[in-house]
Amino acid sequence: MTIIDIADNRLILNGQEVDALGGESFERVSPAHDVVVARYAQAGAEDVDRAVAAARQAFDDGPWPRRAGVERFRVLRRVADLIRRDRDLLARLEALESGKPISQALDEVDAAAELWDYAATLARHAYGDAHNDLGADVLAMVVNEPLGVVSIITPWNFPLLIVSQKLPFALAVGCTAVIKPSELTPGTTLHLARLIIEAGADRGVVNVVTGAGGVGSAMAAHPGSDMVSFTGSTAVGREVAASAGRLLKRVELELGGKNPQIVCADADLDAALDAVVFGVCFNAGECCNSGSRVLVHRDLADEFAAQVVERARRVPVGDPLDPATKIGAIVSDEQLSVIERYVAEGRGDGADLLLGGDRLTTGAGRFYRPTVFAGVDPGMSIAREEIFGPVLSVLAFDTLDEAVEIANSTMYGLSAGIWTSDLNAALTASQGLRAGTIWVNRWMDGYPELPFGGYKASGEGRELGRQAITSFTQTKTIQLQVGARRTRWVPGDMS
Ligand code: NDP
Repeated sequence: MTIIDIADNRLILNGQEVDALGGESFERVSPAHDVVVARYAQAGAEDVDRAVAAARQAFDDGPWPRRAGVERFRVLRRVADLIRRDRDLLARLEALESGKPISQALDEVDAAAELWDYAATLARHAYGDAHNDLGADVLAMVVNEPLGVVSIITPWNFPLLIVSQKLPFALAVGCTAVIKPSELTPGTTLHLARLIIEAGADRGVVNVVTGAGGVGSAMAAHPGSDMVSFTGSTAVGREVAASAGRLLKRVELELGGKNPQIVCADADLDAALDAVVFGVCFNAGECCNSGSRVLVHRDLADEFAAQVVERARRVPVGDPLDPATKIGAIVSDEQLSVIERYVAEGRGDGADLLLGGDRLTTGAGRFYRPTVFAGVDPGMSIAREEIFGPVLSVLAFDTLDEAVEIANSTMYGLSAGIWTSDLNAALTASQGLRAGTIWVNRWMDGYPELPFGGYKASGEGRELGRQAITSFTQTKTIQLQVGARRTRWVPGDMS
């Protein structure tokens, strides 16, 4: 089956496409079709050295951090335009490598372009503050300076979107970057880097290393970068933070989630049902914001679960390239095994399997049916741990206080939702929920303007919004003496 012209990709270092020093390469096979999509260079530690050196030189000596904000704005806006120009190619590559449905890949490309557009505007607003309120003899400036070289390590579930949640914001304020995409989905990140060069970024501003088995850890532990921004599992996030901590680098982590939707007895049930089915099926559940737990008022729980099953069984699973598909392929055999292990644990723990619980066999590829467990106890692993598959756990509650307590009872705190017509109850619950994003009567919408990130083991720091300026800058204060300096300290008089 020919589904794409197989591309041979190299590393992108200092504005050039170059071979890895070790001369090795690897192939990415489409998880839906079992065909080779592309070949990539396997970077080694010495390639990471070269990438960091290029980004370091571009930051220390190059024009990028010294350009007027409006010049960086123009480059980033042009990148947004180029992403839109190459929309179909990017979406097809994303669908082939990650296994996600083409309709969702197109949405992802559009959302990525929006992020570049928004981050561009911040390039013109990264200014600081001034103080004339400190006394008549002093005027002070608080300036935001770009932090330096940022190492960006991204996962396979939304490769283009997640790099676009980090990179344009770092570039907007004048940082330079080394990026390591997941070895499962490097294609769209490499293409993005080519677009950034085409848009006029200076040499060495963006560098991409591909590969697995030590590339990410070499980046996190590299003394030449100033920050690591990582999205992935909580377990690896802890390792990233430990390596970066030893070098006192800044760290920004966007990690896992076990995101609850709370459905109260007075909710608009039709809207809640849609959101719950979408929440767990979107991107095959391989989503940090997956609505993988639903907490339903006990009076409704059985009926609600039955209706979820009715809707979820009709969600089309299959070829990601078919525009009608809503759940594509699971990204890898390893991820499929993780899903199967959790489903087996749910069964073993005594939860009621109402739907799915098995693979869908289509001849080739890795597919998993939408799966619904009811009668789930908050202590079960399917209620507490991130599965990263289309697996929903339905739990019951009696009071809203109890629902909030259950919602908060995992180590995660990325997002949560509440469905109710009582806005007072919604706000009270929102204040009690320990999560970075709370949706009231909606689910999973995101905006470039709104900060995104997690409480507890879901992460550290925030992406997006104006706060991103703070993430990628450091603050310097400059004090100016106004008029003659009055001596306040006389040597020898320490009183
Ligand atoms: P991981 O979280 O394990 O991350 C893998 C990436 O991290 C690779 O690029 C790897 O590169 C790099 N890495 C590994 N060790 C280190 C280290 N010490 N320092 C720096 N980088 C390191 O992702 P997986 O793909 O293995 O997914 C596992 C689970 O993670 C999933 O089942 C899911 O639950 C969760 N996940 C969460 C995501 C989210 O959006 N929050 C996204 C994807 C997965 P290298 O091997 O070259 O070092």
